[in-house]
Amino acid sequence: MIENKNQTVVNCNLCGICNLNCPIYSVLQKESAGPRFKAFLAKKKEHKDVFWLCTNCGACLQDCPARIDLCCLEIRRQMVAAGKELPANKSMRANFQKFNNPLGELKKGKKFTKYYT
Ligand code: SF4
Ligand code: SF4
Repeated sequence: MIENKNQTVVNCNLCGICNLNCPIYSVLQKESAGPRFKAFLAKKKEHKDVFWLCTNCGACLQDCPARIDLCCLEIRRQMVAAGKELPANKSMRANFQKFNNPLGELKKGKKFTKYYT
């Protein structure tokens, strides 16, 4: 099991206030995608793929009465180090290393190149 360095999450009372302004929860409307469920998992030190479903906007921290920081970025770092990375993230990192671009090689003539020149 990955060690969870976030100490504050143990104070989560699962009130669910953090779900209210989470953009992921707003779009997916699933308890299993929201910050309350992430807090529930983090409390049990279970780091699952749902931690990749987070924009790191900080709305959950701002709204939480206990000021709990879910530390999704840190949890993701630990998941990468433990080899629990999503294929899409792996591919994005490889593209960054090779092309300095998360989307891969920029081809001349493609419409989006105008935004980078
Ligand atoms: S993280 Fe905060 S707002 Fe979210 S369920 Fe736990 S105590 Fe409530
Ligand atoms: S930081 Fe992540 S979990 Fe928290 S509100 Fe933003 S998207 Fe949702």
